[in-house]
Amino acid sequence: MIEKLNIVPIEEWFSGLSHPLLIAGPCSAESEDQVMATAHGIARMGKVKVFRVGIWKPRSRPGTFEGAGSDALQWLKRVKAETGLLTAVEVATPTHIEMAIEAGIDILWIGARTTSNPFSIEQIAQALKGVDIPVMVKNPVNPDLELWIGSLERLNRAGIAKLAAIHRGFYPYERTRLRNIPKWEIAIDLKSKFPSLPIICDPSHIAGQASLVPEIAQKALNLSLDGLMVEVHCNPTVALSDAKQQLTPIQLDLMLNSLVFRSPSSANNEFVDKLEQFRNRIDSIDQQMIELLGQRMRIVEEIGEYKKNNNVAVFQLRRWENILKSRIDCGKKLGLDEEYIKNLLQLVHNESIRKQADILNRKDKLSAE
Ligand code: PEP
Ligand code: MN
Repeated sequence: MIEKLNIVPIEEWFSGLSHPLLIAGPCSAESEDQVMATAHGIARMGKVKVFRVGIWKPRSRPGTFEGAGSDALQWLKRVKAETGLLTAVEVATPTHIEMAIEAGIDILWIGARTTSNPFSIEQIAQALKGVDIPVMVKNPVNPDLELWIGSLERLNRAGIAKLAAIHRGFYPYERTRLRNIPKWEIAIDLKSKFPSLPIICDPSHIAGQASLVPEIAQKALNLSLDGLMVEVHCNPTVALSDAKQQLTPIQLDLMLNSLVFRSPSSANNEFVDKLEQFRNRIDSIDQQMIELLGQRMRIVEEIGEYKKNNNVAVFQLRRWENILKSRIDCGKKLGLDEEYIKNLLQLVHNESIRKQADILNRKDKLSAE
């Protein structure tokens, strides 16, 4: 069962905030100079209102840079005083919350790894009882909408009404063009369930590389998401975390100038009309289907090399029969027509054979020379 959320719109969080909300700043706080240089670079362009930075970094592997810790809270006081930007940090424990509030941080966010754990979220929610501070909740690492909603509900029950979700994509086990699979249909689903809940896109963690950030940011704006949180570093090449995906302040400015923002009247109320929502879900699924076909083809090529080296024929009837049967059975369970699955597989299989035959021929020619 889904609860209704009691939401205060972003424009009412602080005076001067507008829709869509633009947030930018480094992945991690590394030094006072790096934080100040980045903040001034961002503030100078006058478009971004909130400075983000990770000071306690939840790293997947030990031994990687974990942020400057609570020392950085003093740097953020300087950022606020010198630039007028609001400040936002990631919190994962009640102690982080206490320290961040004590230091006058304006907005808190909860990272993807923390959202995945209801015990942590419950502790955070308890620590936030009676505190009036905006909280943004990143989606969990895995594409589990219920877990994301559960975190939002726990915080809302604890009295946090200045609440937003951050869509940062989902971990793909297989390598894809992007670092995280966007699965826009999940963000759309969340918006359909809670139309008043602001959803901010983090294009940096979805893209994983700076050159792809604008494309993802534009997609988020086309879907009428409510803001962007972009990783920006004064010198990304020497960043201690997420170096590849961070923009310089100048690149951020260029991107913000080139993005097409929808007019508030069309973006505000209706999100996107129903047909558009369906189309966006289909687009996202097609994109994932093509990524999967690409991954399948990489394996087909590896098999081609293996067959070549071990003198195995490209086509093996028994294997093909098994593929057909198991996929048709699987399709039937999902209500998909037998002929349809057969035709589709035939197409996929023909292309695989063509690729493997190419590999064999190429090698034959090379060795004949
Ligand atoms: C971050 O924003 O730097 C971060 C750690 O992101 P996520 O929680 O989305 O992985
Ligand atoms: Mn990061």
